[in-house]
Amino acid sequence: MKIIDPHVHMYSRTVDDYQKMAANGIQCVIEPGFWLGSDRQYPESCWDYFNHMTTFEPNRAKKFNVAHYVFLAVNPKEARNAIAGKAVDGMWKYVDAPNCLGIGEVGFDLITDAEEDIMKRQMDWAEKHNQLILIHTPHVKKPQGTERTIKVIEKMGLTTKRILIDHNTEETIEMSLACGQVTCGFTIYPITKMSPPRMVAVLKKHGTDRMVMNSAADWGISDPLAVPKTVDLMWSEGFSEAEIQKVVWDNPHKFFGQSPKWKLEK
Ligand SMILES: [Zn+2]
Repeated sequence: MKIIDPHVHMYSRTVDDYQKMAANGIQCVIEPGFWLGSDRQYPESCWDYFNHMTTFEPNRAKKFNVAHYVFLAVNPKEARNAIAGKAVDGMWKYVDAPNCLGIGEVGFDLITDAEEDIMKRQMDWAEKHNQLILIHTPHVKKPQGTERTIKVIEKMGLTTKRILIDHNTEETIEMSLACGQVTCGFTIYPITKMSPPRMVAVLKKHGTDRMVMNSAADWGISDPLAVPKTVDLMWSEGFSEAEIQKVVWDNPHKFFGQSPKWKLEK
């Protein structure tokens, strides 16, 4: 089974993870812009991080035969900070890198007006430059945060087929699917967020169109093999090979393939 993990923070993971992921069928990872666990104090720290993500990390992944793409952004957790505006001002040249597919993750964390301003600036730029957008939905007050995000998308008139709304749950999937042609992401975590059984139940109820799933592995308790483990459960729950391949390969391929920089073979 060929797998794309469409949201994983390899910056925080080791070589062992790349080896295990490659051995379990993961041929491509997408790494969105990340809060490092402590707030950056200077906009330049963001720019150094963007530089690292578009130079060092794709080469590290290549050693394990894993294709590596990024989305760059000032992350929702840092969008309300004083340096956010300046960090965004200096971001665009990094977005031009050959492995950058667009802007993300942007969205709400505490659901504040300051977060909305920074999200809108980044999304507006993406829309004007035909770039893809990867949207984070908040952990706390997720339905309200998702609803407000969708209102922003509608008000800005963004091209929904170029948007991925991520970290959906049973509570948000209906509104996300109803938002034009957006692709809907789910994060499978060992403790919080979706588990493999919950994910399988959602796919049984809502089908596999426009659905993708990821590990969002980072510094915390998370599992870079969350997607292959959910694939195993899909097999045992009677999904066909074609249906499974659609969720873990065809759907992400179709979404990310809208970018001219996408080079992964079908
Ligand atoms: Zn993330």
